[in-house]
Amino acid sequence: MKKRHFFHEEMRDGIFLISCKEWEMSTATINTYLIRGKEKAVLVDAGLGASGLREYAQQLAGVPVQLVLSHGHFDHTGAVNEFEDVWIHPEDALILGKNIIKFLPSKKITARIHNLREGDELLLGDRTLQVYDIQGHTAGSIVLYDKKTKTLISGDSICRRVFYIDGNKYPINRFFHDLMKVDQLDFTGVCSAHDRFLLPKTQIRHMIDVISDGIFNSNITIRILGRKYFQVKYGIGPEDPEFIDFSAPIASREQLKLEVDDFLKKSGYQSIQKGGSYE
Ligand SMILES: [Zn+2]
Repeated sequence: MKKRHFFHEEMRDGIFLISCKEWEMSTATINTYLIRGKEKAVLVDAGLGASGLREYAQQLAGVPVQLVLSHGHFDHTGAVNEFEDVWIHPEDALILGKNIIKFLPSKKITARIHNLREGDELLLGDRTLQVYDIQGHTAGSIVLYDKKTKTLISGDSICRRVFYIDGNKYPINRFFHDLMKVDQLDFTGVCSAHDRFLLPKTQIRHMIDVISDGIFNSNITIRILGRKYFQVKYGIGPEDPEFIDFSAPIASREQLKLEVDDFLKKSGYQSIQKGGSYE
């Protein structure tokens, strides 16, 4: 495998974005994050087919590095086998290394797999990361909360490109409920896997507002790898900080409408735009 030229940027005190030029895909990027404590560091995600990520993270950390995956998709798991051990939610351990897209071969995972789920804590010495489950993008997606810097490491759960790849498999009212659960935390910035800047705390409600509206009103349809999706686009393009790109299988749309309705009726949700309950 080709050696990548990694670089890093410190986003918050002791939280480093690590990426490389090869992980830039038009406007999106692929990032991993290293959270460094006094005794231990956690690397969140392992990027896309890369060699040397472990070594790079290890040098930057200067303390033992534990690999944790936000979820099991191929663009988050490239360098898993450079590690002896990996921590992932048990639901996503089931898809780890599996071919989710036709042209990609499956990959044998040699790292020992350990479970991680909501309620678990990663103790790094002078800081602790708390684990929260968010079912939606996959069955076993997690986000990590760093209280010390009031930061969330969000994988593909809190982001600008929301790929609801499995449609009705995971009800969207449950996804929104899980998002609002972490919205209660005291945080001021979100490190997402596909943007190289921090997203604001309001990103969660911005996502819910745009997606809820778009599920009813968007008329864009697209094909992704032979499957038909409907798409919700917000903002004037990826340069716009409020840009959102949501897509879900067309076949799931009517059910998604019912689930959104259910969420808006039962949750007491307050939208940002209206500053009141969503009608
Ligand atoms: Zn993903």
